[in-house]
Amino acid sequence: MIYLDYSATTPVSYDVLESYIRATKDFMGNPNSLHGLGVKSKTLMGSAIKQISDIFHVLESEIIFTSGATESNNLALIGTCLANMKHGNHVIVSKLEHPSIYKICDYLETIGFEISYVNNTAEGLIDFDDLKSKMRLDTILVSICAVNSETGARQPLKMIRQIIKKENSSTLFHSDMTQALGKVSVSFHDVDLASCSSHKIYGPKGIGLLYKSERAKMKPLLYGSGPFMYHPGTPSVPLIVAFSKAIRLAMSDVDKRENFVRRLNDLIVDDLKKLDGVTINQTKICIPHILNVSLKNIKPETFIHAMEEYEIYIGTNSACASNELSTAIMAIYNDRQRAMSSIRISLSYLTTTDEVYKFLSCFKKVYQKLSGLAYD
Ligand code: PMP
Repeated sequence: MIYLDYSATTPVSYDVLESYIRATKDFMGNPNSLHGLGVKSKTLMGSAIKQISDIFHVLESEIIFTSGATESNNLALIGTCLANMKHGNHVIVSKLEHPSIYKICDYLETIGFEISYVNNTAEGLIDFDDLKSKMRLDTILVSICAVNSETGARQPLKMIRQIIKKENSSTLFHSDMTQALGKVSVSFHDVDLASCSSHKIYGPKGIGLLYKSERAKMKPLLYGSGPFMYHPGTPSVPLIVAFSKAIRLAMSDVDKRENFVRRLNDLIVDDLKKLDGVTINQTKICIPHILNVSLKNIKPETFIHAMEEYEIYIGTNSACASNELSTAIMAIYNDRQRAMSSIRISLSYLTTTDEVYKFLSCFKKVYQKLSGLAYD
């Protein structure tokens, strides 16, 4: 099998799985319990949290565990809106967000918040002038993802933060860093809030985090007991330990791995761009791990299933819904045909050159068959 859908999810790394199993077997106590077993679990959990906060150079109290990035995004947007509604009801998001952000915005509108959508350039970069012009005194939150999940377009968060804070120093800046973490370097210090997910970085599914700077006011969405105000109940020590391990592994050799993935990306682009009817949806701000391609007159799901016959797994933009328009392709290229027919090839540092060659060979076979065109 050749797996090229790493942006949808990643296999759990062996070391991470081992940490999970060990924590499950040897640390069964509830970290909320006062007895020795509880203390043992609590100590292990504490050291995992400390490792995460050390890696990101933030306080332990600034790390909030969630079930994944969807929950982190909910908590970040709804929680900060509810906590800051005295100061305003205006929120700005980009046109390159994950669908979860738009669903949350739709909900926020139903409870009285006003949402503005900032434009981007033809390269997929946030239009700084448009952002400036949309900032208001009552703008309480701006949410712009670090890397777009469909195209890989990466935003300069530090610069965006400067623009936001210059226009309104009390506006909070949230970034969905789900597709950036472990692929390119990120800093929580560029933002007030950041969402991340474990299963995108070779960690287990079911855990994510929200970084929330001490400065940011946020209301909880869940209520209960336990050590975590924003995620009450019994903490999952094995998931926290495994996630901590996954973060440590993901944050090492980021630049070296990125360069390797860029070479794989170049190989694919150089070959696919020769095919008539194949359009590469990639600009210079895109990270190499995500490669979006539109196929003229072929339905993405038809192509994906045909590739599956060769045990090659690639992705669509969204959850494989037919006739679904890619919002990011529309936002960047404003081309309906291109946005209706795009597929996503996502690469990893685990991908081999041999896999890429096999993928290219099968791609051409399948493309030739489905498009009815002949190639040399
Ligand atoms: N944000 C982005 C940018 C994503 O790519 C994803 C996953 N597709 C999510 C949020 C949701 O993450 P999770 O599956 O952890 O809820």
